[in-house]
Amino acid sequence: MAERTIPLIDHRHAAARPAVPRFAAVPNGLLSDRLGRALGDLRISVTDRCNFRCSYCMPKEVFDKNHRFLPHAELLSFEEITRLARVFALHGVHKLRLTGGEPLLRKNLEVLIEQLAALRTPEGAPLDLTLTTNASLLVRKAGALAAAGLKRVTVSLDALDDAVFRRMNDVDFPVAEVLAGIEAAVAAGLAPIKVNMVVKRGINDHEIVPMARFFRDHFGGKVVLRFIEYMDVGVTNGWRMDEVLPSAQVVARIHAAFPLRVLQATALGETAERWGYADGAGEVGVISSVTQAFCGDCNRARLSTEGKLYLCLFASRGHDLRALLRDPAGYSDTQIAAAIGAIWQGRDDRYSELRGSAEGAVASAAKVEMSYIGG
Ligand code: SAM
Ligand code: SF4
Ligand code: SF4
Repeated sequence: MAERTIPLIDHRHAAARPAVPRFAAVPNGLLSDRLGRALGDLRISVTDRCNFRCSYCMPKEVFDKNHRFLPHAELLSFEEITRLARVFALHGVHKLRLTGGEPLLRKNLEVLIEQLAALRTPEGAPLDLTLTTNASLLVRKAGALAAAGLKRVTVSLDALDDAVFRRMNDVDFPVAEVLAGIEAAVAAGLAPIKVNMVVKRGINDHEIVPMARFFRDHFGGKVVLRFIEYMDVGVTNGWRMDEVLPSAQVVARIHAAFPLRVLQATALGETAERWGYADGAGEVGVISSVTQAFCGDCNRARLSTEGKLYLCLFASRGHDLRALLRDPAGYSDTQIAAAIGAIWQGRDDRYSELRGSAEGAVASAAKVEMSYIGG
């Protein structure tokens, strides 16, 4: 086997302190970046810890007992997260996704969900509040999450074959418990549930059709399976292009077993291309971040566990919003909104479109890890 070198660099501290404009205008929800893209979706990482060690995300060799996870005092508090989410909503954010690390490991997460569920857009509508999880704690928590106001969940599951899945999560976690978590989420009303499968060629691509078959036949259309191309996020997963199976091939394999027809996208900025089974038995989605870049309408911002704002999944530097929240000057929401507005207006990130080019290599020279800013 070829030897693999894993760079050990910690970029978590590379962040610029945002400037607070002297004259802060009240946000009007019409923010646009340098490429004309609005701000619509905020992904919030609530912990950098995880009880899995998926090789494509937190390889064991790097995230071992010597890895320094963030101490509690560095994390944003629930009040700080909620305050920022409220400010982002003023700028047009209508969708919040909690992620991590494994978000269900954050203590009393229901309390945060309750606070976020109470937020409203300037038009008075609740925000679309969801969460991505490995489902290991979902049996225990689904009821409380739904009662707190969570609307939906996305569950990650990379194989139905128990041996393959245990190898991929690298902590010997069984498929049956994830399926029990999905059932608990359905029972709690957290549907429609999306199930994400990251496809790695030669590792779990033989599971594509069995996964499609299983989710067609179970849960009565309340679960939508989506296949994600293995991405070159972070620097620790030793990503190689030959391990990416293009989504076109995923669709072709499913189509050969169960004929498919393409469906219309439901929302601008939606990452998944949707395919419906020709016999009406539901749909599947493919997310082709590598082979078909969708930066053109990317409206997503990411907030790290300790309050740094990232404008792209492949960014190297964040913007330290926590420094503003904790500044002795006591900035108002309007001032913080103005700082965020100025940051978004300067955004020109479009890494997936530049992947493979010299410009892309410069832009992503020190990408942060997915477990730190969330998926
Ligand atoms: N721990 C939770 C989970 O696994 O659902 C939430 C955080 S995880 C970083 C969010 C999503 O990112 C998961 O669906 C995971 O499969 C996906 N992901 C992580 N690393 C990836 C990679 N290299 N390529 C594609 N997707 C990846
Ligand atoms: Fe943990 Fe999710 Fe990353 Fe897997 S993908 S290691 S479950 S954060
Ligand atoms: Fe958005 Fe960056 Fe992904 Fe492009 S590469 S779609 S800009 S997160």
